[in-house]
Amino acid sequence: MTRQVDTILFNAHVLTMDEKLTQYSPGAVAVKDDRILAVGAEAEIRDEYEAAESVDCGGKTLMPGLVNAHTHVPMTLLRGLSDDLRLDVWLMGYMMPVEREFVSPEFVRLGTLLACAELIRSGVTTFNDMYYFEDSVAQAAADVGMRAVCGQTVMKFPAPDAPAYEDSFARAREFIMKWKGHPLIVPSVAPHAPYTTTPEILRETALLAREFDVPLHIHISETALEVENMRKDQGMPVVPYVKKQGLFEAKVIAAHCVHVDMGEIRTLKNHGAGVSHNPSSNLKLASGFAPVQKMLEAGLNVGIGTDGPASNNDEDMFEEIRLASFIAKTVSNDPTVVPAQTALTMATRLGAHALHLGDITGSLEAGKRADLILVNTSLTHNSPRFQRDPNNAYARLVYAAKSTDVSDVMVNGKWLMRDQKLLTLNEAELLEQAQVVARKIDAFLIEREQSVLSKLIALGGSMEEESFEVQVKVKIANPARVVEALNRPEIKIEAFKRYRQFDNYFFFDQEEQGRLRFREDDLINEKDETVNVRSRLTLLGRKREGRLEHDVLLSRSRFLAPAVHTLRFYREYFRPKEELVIEKDRLRWHIRYQETELFVNLDTMIKPDIGHFLEIKSRTWSRKDAERKAELANQLIHLLGASDGEIVTQDYTEVITEER
Ligand SMILES: [Zn+2]
Repeated sequence: MTRQVDTILFNAHVLTMDEKLTQYSPGAVAVKDDRILAVGAEAEIRDEYEAAESVDCGGKTLMPGLVNAHTHVPMTLLRGLSDDLRLDVWLMGYMMPVEREFVSPEFVRLGTLLACAELIRSGVTTFNDMYYFEDSVAQAAADVGMRAVCGQTVMKFPAPDAPAYEDSFARAREFIMKWKGHPLIVPSVAPHAPYTTTPEILRETALLAREFDVPLHIHISETALEVENMRKDQGMPVVPYVKKQGLFEAKVIAAHCVHVDMGEIRTLKNHGAGVSHNPSSNLKLASGFAPVQKMLEAGLNVGIGTDGPASNNDEDMFEEIRLASFIAKTVSNDPTVVPAQTALTMATRLGAHALHLGDITGSLEAGKRADLILVNTSLTHNSPRFQRDPNNAYARLVYAAKSTDVSDVMVNGKWLMRDQKLLTLNEAELLEQAQVVARKIDAFLIEREQSVLSKLIALGGSMEEESFEVQVKVKIANPARVVEALNRPEIKIEAFKRYRQFDNYFFFDQEEQGRLRFREDDLINEKDETVNVRSRLTLLGRKREGRLEHDVLLSRSRFLAPAVHTLRFYREYFRPKEELVIEKDRLRWHIRYQETELFVNLDTMIKPDIGHFLEIKSRTWSRKDAERKAELANQLIHLLGASDGEIVTQDYTEVITEER
C-alpha cells in the first residue's frame, strides 16, 4: 500500500549529511507538510509513496539547506560602504555613526529582505542573526519563509533601538515572548560581545535566555587585542571571564572564537556551546586564524558563518565553506585536515547543532523539517564526475561548486526558489529601494567628511563647546628666575603639578578646518614617576580672534573632549595632511592674582629641544572677561621678570615647525 505525501524529489544524487554521511544515487526524498517523511534509494521511495507533486531532479545534488551560523543580515544595506579599515575605525568611525542615523525598523526590514534574496540564491535555508530592531528581521524572514535564529542585541552603549541597556534588555524580553514557539523563527538574546557589555549584562542576558530556553548569541575572542585587554583588565582570557558571569547557564552560540586556547575550547565543549567560524570576515579584518581543527577534534559543534555583509562583503556560503577548508589546511600545514565532507558537515548538520537546532534541521533525515536544496553539479566548471570515492561528491560541492549553481530551495516544506526564480520576494523592487537608501547614506557621509568638526561630532559621546582662550607665551632664558618670582606675595598659589606632555597636532588641507590636537598628559610625582595618564582632543580654530592688549592673544577652541580612542585611531579616521609631534616637561601653577584665577605654565621643550617658555593662560566663555584677563596676563609677565623675553604667542607652532 502506498502512502500519500505532498512532494517526492527523485532522480537526484542525495547527500543526507547524516551521522554516517549516507548517500543515495539515484535517491529520493518524500516530503509531507513541513517534514521529511523518508529519504532513500529512488526505487524504494517511489514504491512506497505517492505524491501530489513529483519533482525530477535531473541528476542534481539534493542536500540539506546550508546553515549560515553568524550574520547581521540588515547590514546588506551597508555593503561596501567603507572597506580596508582597521576594525575600530570601521566600527566606531563609520558603521556606528551611520547606524545611529539610519537604522530603523523599515531599514532593518528592507536589509533583511535583500539578504534573504541573496541567502536563498546561495542555498541557505537557516541563518543566525544579531542586530537591532530584531523584531523586523524576524518578521521579514518569516514573511519570506526562511528559518532563522534572531538575536536582539544588548550592549552598554546607546543603540539605534535603545537609548540605554535597560531599554534593550526590555526589548529583548518582549521580542522573545512574541516569537517563542514560531514554526520558523527562534528568538534569542544577543549580548554583543564581552567588550561592549558589562558583567551585569552578561549575567542578566544569560538568565533571560535560560528563563525562556532560547539561545544566547555573542561574539567571543574575535581579535588578539580583545584577549590582551581582557587579560590586562581581568587577569584571564575571554571564555573564563564570560563563564564567571554565568554565561554558560544559557545555550550559547559563540561567533568567531579566533583566539581561544585548549582550556577555553574544553570549556566551550563542556557547556555545549556552539561556535560559528567566519573565515572571510576573519581574513578581511585580519583577525587571525581560528583553531578550527582543534575545536572539531575536541568535539565542538563548529558551524560556518558569513558574518555581516559589511565585513565580508556577501552572504555566499559556498565561498565560506571552501575557505574554511583551505585555511585550516594552510594554517596546520596539513592538506588532510578539514576535508570536503567535514567542511560541508560544518555548513549543514554541525551548524544546525551549533545553533541548537540540530534536532530539526541540518540533515536529510526522516522526521526533520524539509529544509533542502538542489545544486547543479554537472556544469562546465564541475565536470567530469568521478564515482570511485564517495567523497568525490563532497569535493565537487566544496572545491568547485558556486553559489550560483543552486537552482531550487525548500524551507519547512515550502518552495522558496524554483529553477533560480525566487517565489516569495520581488528582487527588482528590493534592489531599487536599496539604492535609494544608499544614496541617502552617501549624501550623509559626503557632508560629514567635509569638516573635521562634524567628523568629531559623528564619533559621539563628546562635548562640543566654544570657548575663548587668553594666552601669552614668552621664550625665556632662565626658568629658575620665574619659579623664584612666583613666591611674590601678590601671587597666591592654589595648586602645583608637573606633567610630561605629548602633543600631536594634525594639520589639514584647508586651513579653515583648524588644527586638531591629541594631547597626552602624564602626571609626574616628586619621585619622577608617572602617576596618571589622560588624553584629550582639542579642535583649535585656525583663525585667531585677534590681539588683546599688545601681546596677548585671544583664540577660540571649538571642541574639547576626552580622547577615548587611541592616537592611531584618530590618525586613521581623520587622515591629516601633516602631523607635528611636540614633547615637553610642564610645570603648572594654578594661581590667584587680583582675585582672578589664572594658570602659569613653565615649559621645557624636549622635542624639539628649543629651550624654555613661560605661558600665562586662562579659558573663558565671555569676550569681556577675556579682555580683563588679558590685562592681568600682561601684568604677570612683567611681575615674573619675563618682559624682556621674546613673545612667541602668535607663531608658536611656526617656531616649532621651523625648529623641527
Ligand atoms: Zn559579527
